[in-house]
Amino acid sequence: MPMQVPIQNTGKPELIELPNVCPRCCHAMEPTVAATWMTRTQRVQVALRCGSRACGEMFLAEYDQGPGGRPWYLIRTVPENPERTVLPERVKQLSPEFASIFVQAEAAEALGLDRVAGGAYRKALEFLVSDYCVSVHPEALATIERMELSAVIQAYLPAGRVKECSQRSAWLKGDWTHYLKRWKPHDLADLKALIEVTVAWVQQELLAGHFLRSDGVAQPTKPALSR
Ligand SMILES: [Zn+2]
Repeated sequence: MPMQVPIQNTGKPELIELPNVCPRCCHAMEPTVAATWMTRTQRVQVALRCGSRACGEMFLAEYDQGPGGRPWYLIRTVPENPERTVLPERVKQLSPEFASIFVQAEAAEALGLDRVAGGAYRKALEFLVSDYCVSVHPEALATIERMELSAVIQAYLPAGRVKECSQRSAWLKGDWTHYLKRWKPHDLADLKALIEVTVAWVQQELLAGHFLRSDGVAQPTKPALSR
């Protein structure tokens, strides 16, 4: 749950969500805030103490803000949890909601909460695909926001391997509640693999776009809608 945390050197509170898993003992906990700082590069750093009595050690959480005053999102905790996936910076900037929900999904999975993790991973994928499609087709924002994930993929992702993988994924072929009833551990691995493929593809698209812009080369025309 995001909370207002006063920043010591600006005197201004910022709305941030504190981590709920300690990167030192890897247990769920409620941390206490020891110190806060706004860096020169406009990042919020929070020194925290693990709420677990068995651990109680200090760690650091660092936050960045999405473009246009979007909510602060957790970039990393220090020390890094060795089991945590490091998401590409460009992907996190494109979809802070994806990054934030993905971190929570991993934390839930680490705690053995597979069904909670499954729902969270799917929600994360939904944000990533929607935010990417809106960045390419901003005129379709209202439509994309109302669509099911599988429909967004079908309509707005250009033809290629990511689209093909999505269409084959057990998680997207049927409706979501159906899969909650017929849960298999294999399904979670399937969904995580799909997220991995999608993150790598989005990162590649963003890098290529950046390269073409910075090189002064004209950008390619956006992919045509496939419906
Ligand atoms: Zn701890």
